[in-house]
Amino acid sequence: MKLAVLRERDPEESRVAATPDTIKRYRGLGVDVSVETGAGIGSGIPDGEYEAVGAHVGGGPEATGGADAILAVRRPTPSALAGCRSGAAVLALMDPFGNEAALAELAKTGIVAFAMELIPRITRAQSMDVLSSQANLAGYRAVIDASYEFGRALPMMMTAAGTVPAARIFVMGAGVAGLQAIATARRLGAIVTATDVRPAAKEQVESLGAKFIAVEDEEFRQAETAAGYAKEMSKEYQAKQAALVAEHIKKQDIVITTALIPGRPAPRLISAAMVHALRPGSVIVDLAVERGGNCELAKPGEVAQVDGVKIVGHLNVAGRLAATASSLYAKNLYALLEILVDKTAKQLAIKWDDEIVKATALTRDGAIIHPGFQPKTAA
Ligand code: NAD
Repeated sequence: MKLAVLRERDPEESRVAATPDTIKRYRGLGVDVSVETGAGIGSGIPDGEYEAVGAHVGGGPEATGGADAILAVRRPTPSALAGCRSGAAVLALMDPFGNEAALAELAKTGIVAFAMELIPRITRAQSMDVLSSQANLAGYRAVIDASYEFGRALPMMMTAAGTVPAARIFVMGAGVAGLQAIATARRLGAIVTATDVRPAAKEQVESLGAKFIAVEDEEFRQAETAAGYAKEMSKEYQAKQAALVAEHIKKQDIVITTALIPGRPAPRLISAAMVHALRPGSVIVDLAVERGGNCELAKPGEVAQVDGVKIVGHLNVAGRLAATASSLYAKNLYALLEILVDKTAKQLAIKWDDEIVKATALTRDGAIIHPGFQPKTAA
């Protein structure tokens, strides 16, 4: 069996889909591995480190030719898959929502595309959960980025020259990223408050030493889906939430927003008026900027300035910790590929009735097979 690791084409993508550690594990399964030249540079992994663990390093078709499985960070273009076998498994962040046309193009190559963001949140698949591995790092990095932009210290300091007060940090959305942001902000000595629409978040926030603030009405008690995600809230709830947030936010130094709803635009939680109400020198970090933003004034890929308030809209925040993000992402991919391989025959053997396969496989035999991403046809 042959496995190919792609070099990312997007210059903004610093991560890589395999590390020397995971390549050693693939080699242990009896798999031949090719890595595209320069694939690991953004994560501080030179080609020689891949060669040292037995991978072949080469350019384009040399790496992908005859491959049974291909690993990438972002959805590859059909041209990046030159020469791979029909029926090959391609594992990547496929960004499937709203991209049915691009998926149809990818399907035509005959590959089986696995969308890593669709890994179900079941115990057996925890080691494959890229949303968690990457969101956790983004939550940590959001606090580091906020402290970098903030012109004051985060912890309280009692010095001979006077006392420095602790910074107040408000985290909006207490899922994987938000909880890590809370933990990191607490470790740095900030006074932390947090909000979410899911009741389960309250205990988790409090267990990290932060204060939970939310509109806790009947709708809040019903806000979590069976899959553990938030629902889109009603207009009435949003208005009550906005009133609460508008009052609370005025007293904050740093606001970190992480709120998402799967397959929907990010909920708008911070209006322009709320930004204007912040003190100059305050910082907002919007981790939802790639999905439309939680803050009305956030600009993707920029640090915007409004009335002395900085609004940080970095893209690919996990990629700002490329080496760590790659090491965890590569392990997530290994965990999925391991269940797609027959270890005795050393061959790709996709079990189509496995619930993880059903949840993540998008394409097969030239067509989109996932029920959630069928191309729109005229009725
Ligand atoms: P997410 O990235 O979809 O959203 C981030 C957070 O934003 C969530 O906590 C969500 O409730 C919150 N949010 C959405 N709308 C909001 C609004 N209007 N106002 C305030 N907050 C809002 O979520 P996630 O980080 O992927 O986590 C979702 C849940 O799944 C969490 O409970 C998490 O602990 C759980 N989880 C389970 C597993 C597993 O069982 N294997 C793995 C990872 C996460």
